[in-house]
Order: sequence, then C-alpha cells, then structure tokens
Amino acid sequence: MNLKLSWCRRRVTCSAEFCQKEISVGNPIIKGTYKTKNGLTIRRYWHPGCWLEAGLAYLHTHPYQKVPGKGRPTLELSQYDKRARRLLTCRRARAMQRIRWLIPRLPDSEGMIDRLYEQIEGIKQEIAKVGGIPKSWE
Ligand SMILES: [Zn+2]
Repeated sequence: MNLKLSWCRRRVTCSAEFCQKEISVGNPIIKGTYKTKNGLTIRRYWHPGCWLEAGLAYLHTHPYQKVPGKGRPTLELSQYDKRARRLLTCRRARAMQRIRWLIPRLPDSEGMIDRLYEQIEGIKQEIAKVGGIPKSWE
C-alpha cells in the first residue's frame, strides 16, 4: 500500500468503516493505492484522523510480536560476562586502532604490530569463553 497525505481535490468517501462520511475538497486527506494480484489498482481515502484511528484499532487487535530470527540474537549472558565481553571488545578496538596508526609508519613499527596481533589473538581466546567470537572478528 502506498500512502500519501495531501489535499482533497474531489469529493470522496472516507474508507474508515466507522466514518463513511464525505471528505470535501480542500481538506487534508490520506490517499492509499495498492495493486491487487490481478493488476488492479485499488484506491482508498481517509480523513487523516480516521486513518490513524482505524490503524491503531487494527494494531491493537494484532499485538506487537518480535519477528523470530530477525535481527541480532541476544546473547544469554550473565551481567558479569556481558561486562567482560564489552571490555574485551574495547581492548580489541584499541589494538586495531593502534595497528591502523602504525601501518603507515612501517617498517619501524613491524615488531609492535606483531605484538598487537598477538594481543588480539589472546583477546579472541578470552572472548570465546564469554559468548563466543563475534563474526566480524574472524
Ligand atoms: Zn473519516
């Protein structure tokens, strides 16, 4: 459904079941168009208030449900593990930042970079124990 809020240019009837009154020219109107499977375009018109009311009524009969499997799954971790994870993430970010800073200063910084990569490897092992290694770290 495509919705558009605009001015009413010709008289139409409000599609809200509880309203069904005329929307007269020059008033704000919500125009809805949608295509059916057989290619027909259906148009609907509402008073903006009626549209909101009908929409809210619909939502109340269809309560919010989190779509399963969408978004990042939350880790089942204790308060303590969550904190540990966050700290490890920060430590790794700091090391990565240092590497980025050092790379243009090669070859003098080669040893330091190696040590930082070792550190990151260690951080990986630690985070594996508190909820696993994040995908982006692989
Ligand atoms: Zn209405």
